[in-house]
Amino acid sequence: MKALVWHGTADIRCDSVPDPRIEDPRDAIIKVTSCAICGSDLHLYDHFMPGMESGDIMGHETMGEVVDVGAGAKSALKVGDRVVIPFTIICGECDQCRRGNFSVCERSNRNKALGDKAFGHTTAGLFGYTHLTGGYAGGQAEYLRVPFADATHIKVPKGIPDEKLLFLSDIFPTGWQAAVQCDIQPDDTVAIWGCGPVGQMAIRSAVLLGAKRVIAIDRLPERLSMARAGGAETLNFAEDNIVERLNDMTDGKGPEKCIDAVGLEAHATGSIDSMYDRAKQAMMMETDRPHVLREMIYVCRPAGVLSVPGVYGGLVDKVPFGAMMNKGLTLRTGQTHVNRWTDDLLKRIEEGQIDPSFVITHKVGLDQGPEMYKTFRDKQDGCIKVFISP
Ligand code: NAD
Ligand code: ZN
Ligand code: ZN
Repeated sequence: MKALVWHGTADIRCDSVPDPRIEDPRDAIIKVTSCAICGSDLHLYDHFMPGMESGDIMGHETMGEVVDVGAGAKSALKVGDRVVIPFTIICGECDQCRRGNFSVCERSNRNKALGDKAFGHTTAGLFGYTHLTGGYAGGQAEYLRVPFADATHIKVPKGIPDEKLLFLSDIFPTGWQAAVQCDIQPDDTVAIWGCGPVGQMAIRSAVLLGAKRVIAIDRLPERLSMARAGGAETLNFAEDNIVERLNDMTDGKGPEKCIDAVGLEAHATGSIDSMYDRAKQAMMMETDRPHVLREMIYVCRPAGVLSVPGVYGGLVDKVPFGAMMNKGLTLRTGQTHVNRWTDDLLKRIEEGQIDPSFVITHKVGLDQGPEMYKTFRDKQDGCIKVFISP
């Protein structure tokens, strides 16, 4: 089959690789009908995240049709089922899965000991991510092996196009969880740093959850205008002092709720910021630059909430923890517990409350994947979200 394969920093190729096969009774194989490139893939593309090996298949936003099912997954899935695959692999049985804390499943990351050592603590098994999260082949490919497939899937009805459903795999529940974690009240102003695909989903979610005001921050005009179309007021961090402007806009009080939809920042700005040393950025963010976490802590209204879906890979330096403590802020973060939200979100899509396909700007085949990684990373050609049909 064809797949997008990692070969090193900024080197992804569309290669011919062996088809995946059932390796465990709980596996299923799906024929991929659509997949997408995520901001989290860029941490691997730029090689900010350790634990990649040449030959790894990329991708964790995938959907398709079941073409083979192991004996242990047959009670839940059959050939022909249409499924969206959450980026987090879940066993469905461990103590954390039973509590709904799927992104910290205790059994699906087969390299957990190694990952824990590298990061202090790592996550559940993830598709198409580093070997520290299990090293599972990803879904930017024609076929995908789904481990623990009886639990790791979202069944979706036929008749709704892939474009509307694919983002249940990651960015829609990610934006949603980021907003839910803010515990939004009708009087709240929610400030959202980053208007990439995750920020866009967080904006729509905060509006759906009844925020009085949403203020979104980025520097790219096409992303800021998509944010405004979603109901946000916008600020440009390349032009404005964000802390000052947010204070002005809220009568000096600061927004009650703050969402970091940026994470590892150097590449999120298209690697334009050469003051960042690549290795330091990856594992130890030592900088005097006002990074997002610091701005959020300084500007958030006392007793407010900081919600951080943005991905970090190691230590972050110069975070004003004293201000956070004295303001009584609550910090909520994590990889998304995808399956916790998807029944509700699928219903909202079916009822027409939201159509997550609004975020797609580029539609391509797998062979254009390598070029699309660069376009998405460098924020060229108005690129916000790349949708791939293998
Ligand atoms: P993206 O790179 O497309 O978007 C990031 C945006 O942040 C860009 O538009 C960039 O211009 C903007 N930005 C950069 N520096 C900024 C600053 N100082 N202030 C405000 N905006 C700034 O990525 P994405 O796909 O939207 O993903 C965003 C983050 O969410 C990434 O870190 C990704 O890894 C993470 N993510 C987390 C989860 C999860 O489960 N928690 C899931 C998916 C993605
Ligand atoms: Zn993702
Ligand atoms: Zn589990």
